[in-house]
Amino acid sequence: MRLILLGPPGAGKGTQAKRLVDKHGIPQLSTGDMLRAAVAAGTPVGLKAKAVMEAGQLVSDEIVIGIVADRIEEADARRGFILDGFPRTVAQAEALDSMLAGKGLALDAVIELKVDQSALVGRIVKRAEETKARGEPVRKDDDPDVFKTRLDAYNRDTAVVAPYYKAKGAIVEVDGMQPIDAVSAAIDAALAGSQPRAAHG
Ligand code: AMP
Repeated sequence: MRLILLGPPGAGKGTQAKRLVDKHGIPQLSTGDMLRAAVAAGTPVGLKAKAVMEAGQLVSDEIVIGIVADRIEEADARRGFILDGFPRTVAQAEALDSMLAGKGLALDAVIELKVDQSALVGRIVKRAEETKARGEPVRKDDDPDVFKTRLDAYNRDTAVVAPYYKAKGAIVEVDGMQPIDAVSAAIDAALAGSQPRAAHG
């Protein structure tokens, strides 16, 4: 199964993606996680991305598309994957379409988590507090001011990605304001109803 989780930062994409990993045994491809790993490792990509990420802006399409193109070639992604945080621009969505078409593959589902943006800053403050309580480092971009910049970037560049898929008739909207388990159940129901549009590789 190949699917995309869409929605603004803090909508619960990462939480739901992890659950889907356990349920379906396919990897979560989070471009945010991959970029943070590159920053931590000090790779050339990480060096380019660090300041942009800390400021809450989007990393260039070229870099992110390159990362995803490499990642979906890895063995564990052959049976499918859950894209979390990608595509974030129409250029990324188009690049993904050509990557998949080049392999004779298609997406099984695009799920959009719909949330009330006014509740998101509160969610992110809570996420930062819980991370801190676990003794783990808090993401620099979960600072409330940077978070607002991330939300602006979402509204400017990423909000158009859902209509891109809608125009292809390939998107399911899920109310992301429900409790986590209810969101998971709604996603499961959406996936049960979705018809694979290409042979699984
Ligand atoms: P996330 O963990 O998905 O919230 O991503 C954290 C940060 O990584 C974002 O604020 C961006 O700076 C960068 N990033 C992650 N995914 C992308 C993407 N698909 N396109 C551009 N920048 C991205």
